[in-house]
Amino acid sequence: MKVKEEMDSLVKKDTDHLWHAMHRHVENQPTMVAESGEGSWFTDVNGNRYLDGVSGLWCLNLGHGRQEIIDAASEQMKQLSYFPLTLSHMPAINLSAKISQLLGGSYKTFFSNSGSEANEAAFKIARQYHDQNGNPGKYKFISRYRAYHGTTLGALSATAQANRRMKYDPGVPGFLHTPPPYSYRSLFDEDAEKSDLIAAEMIDQMITWEGAESVAGVIMEPFISGGGVIIPSKAYLKRVSEICKKHDVLLIMDEVVSGFGRTGKMFGFMHTEGVEPDIVTMAKGLTSGYLPLGATAVKSDIYEKFKEAGDHNHFRHVSTYGGHPASCAVALKNIEIIERENLVNRVDELGETILGQLKELIEHENVGEVRSVGFLYGIEMVEDKQTKKPASDQLIGSIIGKCKENGLIIGRNGDTVPGYNNVLIIAPPLSSTEDDLEFVVNTVKSAFYDLKAYVKIEKTSKN
Ligand code: PLP
Repeated sequence: MKVKEEMDSLVKKDTDHLWHAMHRHVENQPTMVAESGEGSWFTDVNGNRYLDGVSGLWCLNLGHGRQEIIDAASEQMKQLSYFPLTLSHMPAINLSAKISQLLGGSYKTFFSNSGSEANEAAFKIARQYHDQNGNPGKYKFISRYRAYHGTTLGALSATAQANRRMKYDPGVPGFLHTPPPYSYRSLFDEDAEKSDLIAAEMIDQMITWEGAESVAGVIMEPFISGGGVIIPSKAYLKRVSEICKKHDVLLIMDEVVSGFGRTGKMFGFMHTEGVEPDIVTMAKGLTSGYLPLGATAVKSDIYEKFKEAGDHNHFRHVSTYGGHPASCAVALKNIEIIERENLVNRVDELGETILGQLKELIEHENVGEVRSVGFLYGIEMVEDKQTKKPASDQLIGSIIGKCKENGLIIGRNGDTVPGYNNVLIIAPPLSSTEDDLEFVVNTVKSAFYDLKAYVKIEKTSKN
């Protein structure tokens, strides 16, 4: 804990020099400065302790301070501090083989540093693959409204959230957007599965109308995370996968958030039987956030096209730090721990049992829907259940503020157009103890109890 003068000087330096991600500039607003972390908790420089209910930026899956991971990084740095993947090194070889095994098929993996870069590599690979497979006209990509796929211009062009793009458009040509399987706000049908299937058919129609000979890929998360935790019915992904196959369009699965156990399966697409993505992109949970790493895993039959002779037939893409030996060593240790501690099954079970108590919040008049899979929860807040008008900033802010006051950090997103940033996000570390998870549930619920608008839960809790 810092003394007051030290703290004041730190805050001034922060305000004068550090440009924070996503921040509106507000004069003299003290920012939260973290100092240390242990498990799912961190402590700020004022000595306040918080449970990180969003795992940093949905990445700190094993929590803070895992000595084995720290040792793996340090040992690797001692042994070989850096080596480029224009050649090769052992951690990258072993990690690529492990990723293939986890995906349950034959994949080749290209390493980068982040989720955005993993998606950029996927787009370039898809375009080049079609070109070298005799279909040079296939260059377009389809993604869904509300999706977030990253911050670089290609990944941002796949991102279909007006708010995020407004100041940076026009994006990269060739990116098209279609409605998501968002049955809560669907125009199509009352029945969730039917409305999701219509959303899938719209992809089919878009490919047909654009001309299948011009479409390279469809990119999607198995569950939209950054656009408000949107969970499609199982039939949706199966149908999208069939549509992609029918049109020779690559299915690119963005598992940056959902990979490595977050949803109660090793990868989110594994919730749907019979789906085999052509390309799988990963980051975040790949290293549990201990070091940066992105990965683009590509089915071997696609890679075959990059083996052909000719000056331009290899993948002309390089990232200085992509697949850094220390990051790969950390990823290998991270995966070893996830497997050893059986975390994927644990997330599946505790996501339903302990965190499942959050679903009771549906009784609250400002809760339109509680959507979840594994340790990924979204609570869509509305002013009114009938009109589904998104809840005000004030109402949403009061829940987040109350949780923070009581030692829990939760997030919000949706972030599509003004007024629709109305989904509360809860995604604690996968290794959270049962006590931690109880704390999350109780703190969120009591924040709702404190709302004036609160109705039914209070009655039941007093019984
Ligand atoms: N894809 C998804 C689904 C994401 O949520 C994110 C980041 O939040 C990204 C890609 C981009 O990852 P990064 O921030 O590591 O570039």
